[in-house]
Amino acid sequence: MKIDILGTDFESFSFSDEILSAIKAMGFENPTEIQDKTIPAILEGKDVLARADTGSGKTAAFVLPLLDNLSNQNVYSKIGRTQRFNATERVASNCVQIIVLVPTRELAIQVADVFSELAKNIQPTLKCLSVYGGVKINPQMQALRGGVDVLVSTPGRLLNLADQNAIKFNQVKALVIDEVDRLMKGDFQEEIERIGKLLPNKRQNLMFTATFPESITALVRNVMTAPEIINIDEFEDELEIEQRAITVNHHQKNDLLAYLIRENDWRQVLIFCSAKRTCDNLVKKLEKREIEAVAMHSNKEQSVRIAALKNFKAGKTHILVATDVASRGIDIDQLPCVINYDLPRSPNDYVHRVGRTGRAGEKGLVISLISHHEYQHFSVIEKRNSIQLEREEIVGFEVDAVAPPMPKKSPKVKKVKRTKKQKGSLKREQETTRKTIDHYDQKSNDVESLESTANAHIWGNLKKK
Ligand code: AMP
Repeated sequence: MKIDILGTDFESFSFSDEILSAIKAMGFENPTEIQDKTIPAILEGKDVLARADTGSGKTAAFVLPLLDNLSNQNVYSKIGRTQRFNATERVASNCVQIIVLVPTRELAIQVADVFSELAKNIQPTLKCLSVYGGVKINPQMQALRGGVDVLVSTPGRLLNLADQNAIKFNQVKALVIDEVDRLMKGDFQEEIERIGKLLPNKRQNLMFTATFPESITALVRNVMTAPEIINIDEFEDELEIEQRAITVNHHQKNDLLAYLIRENDWRQVLIFCSAKRTCDNLVKKLEKREIEAVAMHSNKEQSVRIAALKNFKAGKTHILVATDVASRGIDIDQLPCVINYDLPRSPNDYVHRVGRTGRAGEKGLVISLISHHEYQHFSVIEKRNSIQLEREEIVGFEVDAVAPPMPKKSPKVKKVKRTKKQKGSLKREQETTRKTIDHYDQKSNDVESLESTANAHIWGNLKKK
């Protein structure tokens, strides 16, 4: 993803010296476009709704001004949140000053890390904590006891902590909802609304999203007050990423993948599969071909997932095979290559997978391996994202004109003997299913185009507000 570095500098925001030195230590020289547009509004204490793609620098876009606001007496007194952080008035027991809601545990850890890094020179020390489900709640309850300045959480775990009286909300000054579109997709809406009701009415609200599905509109109206709306360039304008589509017979995908990994000198590769079992199988298949890889998906224990991600980030693991659990929240500088072994279910997920590479202005490469049954779905993905890729073939892996038979299912499954009558009714059933699928495909095309019109419509409405 192209990172737009602007001519302005961080000094122009009048950040404290502690923050400026931390920015320098991160190696950021100038603000990115999203940072340049959002930081002034957040510093003024305004509510902000921003459309920003992953990789655009959006985390620092809210972390930096929020850290500055925590030590600025004026900002939150303007919106009636006078209790502020300073040397004498620390956050009280079990209280929190800033809450950041994120869809995944991985993103929670990553965002809390950015807060800690950028706050490292601020005195007295700011406490930043990430909490999420899938691990014991007791250590998290203990960590909250002394109060926390910044809490990054998944919605469910935040409510669990509230149910256990482990967290008090009366000192909350700002709520950030990151990757709102993903949260809405994951049925978190009800949880977010419940959280909203627990918080003080007077607070600053910030929302970041890559897309604008209709579900966001209601949330924006319920949660935010006269937000400043910031929309940076459309996705396709920002791409610094080469996208390739390689057609291949389904049964040759593993060999082609191994060939591509060997032929190209990629330092690291993130491979996406649609199912957890496919990830595990693929790791075994690659191992048979003497290529080491690690699988990461939601069936793996949390500690295993964190270790997998850490090793991949540190460059110790070169090939990570993951479900879409990794399509958000992985931020690895210079991840050169993403491979779609299976296509993502939705065109939006394709955008998020693409966003894993070409980050921080580096060039990236995304390769989708498409077999016969995926041709039509890939066309929908292209249409929805306004891209059109040439279909490539690799010598030695040319596709058959007609789809070759899919590999046989597990030999353990006994073949059922059917009578003539049963066979007849099965054929009728299959015919109905095929018609339903055709109908569904047509419908989903219609829905896709409707959705983009709706997005434009909502976008327009929000802007007019
Ligand atoms: P994000 O979109 O927040 O996930 O950030 C994507 C990447 O951009 C991360 O690796 C950040 O460290 C990096 N980044 C953020 N802000 C800047 C900046 N102003 N200059 C250079 N890199 C940045």
